[in-house]
Amino acid sequence: MTHDTTANQSRKRRDRPFPWLCANCLKDEVYPVTMPYAVETKHDGRLYHIEVPELRIPKCKACGELIFSNSVDDQIMEALRSHVRILTPEQIKAGRKALGLKSKDLAKRLGVAAATVSRWEKGMMIQSRAMDNLLRVYFAVPEARAVLRGAEQDPNLGVVADPKSDLAPVEARSNRVTAHFRPRELKNLSDQRKRQSNFLLNAGAN
Ligand SMILES: [Zn+2]
Repeated sequence: MTHDTTANQSRKRRDRPFPWLCANCLKDEVYPVTMPYAVETKHDGRLYHIEVPELRIPKCKACGELIFSNSVDDQIMEALRSHVRILTPEQIKAGRKALGLKSKDLAKRLGVAAATVSRWEKGMMIQSRAMDNLLRVYFAVPEARAVLRGAEQDPNLGVVADPKSDLAPVEARSNRVTAHFRPRELKNLSDQRKRQSNFLLNAGAN
């Protein structure tokens, strides 16, 4: 919470008072306007047509140039997020805090970088649908939280051990080897030794 407030404050400080100088026509004629805006934007490899009915954007009154400030990006990201129906930064943060987790702890359990969780929560990055599903399951399902434990996670979690299948995990297959093949191998080996000693006895007899 504190961290985000600081980020917003520094962002606000960067927003200078209007009018701004227009980089296109070099006139001090840039003022904020509210206008409908449509944009094509990609998320998760899919292209979305997003409409923001009331985009607040700085615009040059002299030449019509639009200035895409951070706050404009935020509004477009917010519209995209609500269009694709994924958790908002506030919802991610609230879900994490309800579990009493630090963002680096949540990151470890989900298997992402700590910076990633922090970017989702600050609205700097929109999580993929798959990550959104993982977040929702983690927040909503105690059983999921019980098994997703980061470094202490059971390596066989979700592994279906079917010893008859060739697709069975290596450990199950090696158990099968131990149970069925090794005794036979040992038996063969002792048969071989017997044969060898018989041969030696025969050789000695000759
Ligand atoms: Zn201009």
